[in-house]
Amino acid sequence: MTIGGSFRWVDVQVWLDRRWSTNGPVVVVVGKDVTDERLRGIERIEQLNRELDLAATTDLLTGLLNRRGLARAESTEWAAAAASGDVLSMFVIDVDHFKIYNDLFGHADGDQVLVAIAQAIRETLPGGTSILARYGGEEFVVLLPATGTDRARAIAEELVTTVRQLSIGHPGHADVRVTVSVGVATVFPGLDTSDRTRLFRAADLALYRAKRGGRDRVSVGSVTTSRERYEPEEM
Ligand code: GH3
Ligand code: MG
Ligand code: MG
Repeated sequence: MTIGGSFRWVDVQVWLDRRWSTNGPVVVVVGKDVTDERLRGIERIEQLNRELDLAATTDLLTGLLNRRGLARAESTEWAAAAASGDVLSMFVIDVDHFKIYNDLFGHADGDQVLVAIAQAIRETLPGGTSILARYGGEEFVVLLPATGTDRARAIAEELVTTVRQLSIGHPGHADVRVTVSVGVATVFPGLDTSDRTRLFRAADLALYRAKRGGRDRVSVGSVTTSRERYEPEEM
C-alpha cells in the first residue's frame, strides 16, 4: 500500500472483537509495516541468484568460465561483433599427451598442471576483452573480439611458447615438457550469421591439424574451408 506517498509492504491482521461494543462486534484492523524485512529478503534472493549464476558458469578447478559460461559469452560476443561489423577469433587449445601424464603421475598432479596452464593462458591473453573458458577435460577455448587472423596467430604462438616455458616435466621423458596445441579460426559474425558452430568447427579442425603436425604448435584454419574432415591421426 502507499503510505505518505511511498509504497510500503504491510502485514494486515483483521478480526471481529465483541468485547468493547454493545452494538455488535467491532472490526479490528492492525497493520505492521514490514517493508524493511521484505527489501532485505529481496536483496538476499538477488544475492543468492548471483551466487548461483556464478557457480553455474564457473569451472570448479581452474576458476575459468565453464562450458555454460562460454556459451553465454559467445552469444554476447557474436551479437556485439555482428552489430559492430568487427571480426572475432577463436582458439581451441588442447594439452598434448596429457593422458600419459595422468596415467603416470595421477589425476591430482594432473589437475595442478591444468591449473598452471589455465593461469599461463590467462596471463598471455590481452587483458580486458579476451574470454577464456575450460571447454572440457584438458581443452580450453578462447574468444578474441576485434582480433584478426594475424594478431590471433601471434597471440596463439606466444601462448604455446609460454606453456612450454612453464617447463613442466613429462613423465618418462627427461627432455620432454608439457605442451599445448592450438587451433585458430577467425570470422566476421556480421557476414556469417548462418551457423555459429562453424567458427568452433574451423578452430577445432585446425587444432587437429596442429596435433597431426607434431603438437606444441599453432595451426590456423579457415571458416570457409571447414568442409575438411577430422581424420584419425597417425601416432
Ligand atoms: P593428445 O595430445 O592427442 O591430446 O593426447 P592426450 O593424451 O592429451 O589425449 P586424450 O584425449 O587421449 O587424453 C586426455 C586426457 O586428459 C585423459 C585424462 O587423463 C586427462 N584429463 C581430462 N580431464 C582431466 C581433468 O579434469 N583432470 C586431470 N587430471 N586429467 C584430465
Ligand atoms: Mg583433448
Ligand atoms: Mg590432449
